[in-house]
Amino acid sequence: MVAGNWKMNGLSGDAVHLTQAILNAGLEPMRPEVVLFPPFTLLHAVSQEAKSSALRWGGQNLFWEASGAYTGEISGAMLRDMGCRYVLLGHSERRQIFGETDAQVAQKVKAALHSGLIPVVCVGESEAERAQGATESVLRRQVEAVLHLLNLDANQPNMIIAYEPIWAIGTGLSATPEQAQAAHAFIRTLVVAHSEHLAKRLLLLYGGSVKGNNAAALFDQEDIDGGLVGGASLQAGEFVQICRAAE
Ligand code: PEP
Repeated sequence: MVAGNWKMNGLSGDAVHLTQAILNAGLEPMRPEVVLFPPFTLLHAVSQEAKSSALRWGGQNLFWEASGAYTGEISGAMLRDMGCRYVLLGHSERRQIFGETDAQVAQKVKAALHSGLIPVVCVGESEAERAQGATESVLRRQVEAVLHLLNLDANQPNMIIAYEPIWAIGTGLSATPEQAQAAHAFIRTLVVAHSEHLAKRLLLLYGGSVKGNNAAALFDQEDIDGGLVGGASLQAGEFVQICRAAE
């Protein structure tokens, strides 16, 4: 899978242009699955362009309640109503700028599954945490917060985890394929310990300065099943190059 996180970028004209450029790049039938995460305001435009294609789309966040007096929030049902199949949860920008906690991310994952969405749960350590040798303990804490909550769930859910080291996001400084592989292998062991069933179908995406020129080396790693792309997903040519590297 290759997913593009547009973050808070673009107006409707940009969404139409970018989606059309991806659709016209000859990636169909799409292998791997290609998913766009535009801002909420562009979901309609993207869905209109992509509705009869293999391209998928999702929201960048949701709130765990189904409806009510939560001004400014969006529910899982609202995302489903926009044709979303996926939702990004726990992105480091949500955790750092908006103070989302592990417990809140877990609650959102539960709500997403309840709504029939596939959550793409982002985890990753900061530069200081890596320097302190705390990468694995941070990943364990973030992943287990979600897995423990799913323990309560009798249905084994469909879930994707994106490893996104914070020091690599938007910095141009990608993790090396070996660093990324080590983190992915660790995350997979955490999931295996919790549920072999979930581990079997779990996709693990790498995110953090993925570009056309480093994607293939990252995707070649055994435990890297694709990428979550930020900045480069706003440039159609670069994004298509990344998708091709995952074919
Ligand atoms: C992201 O925001 O999820 C991301 C990976 O950003 P970038 O590719 O720009 O580092």
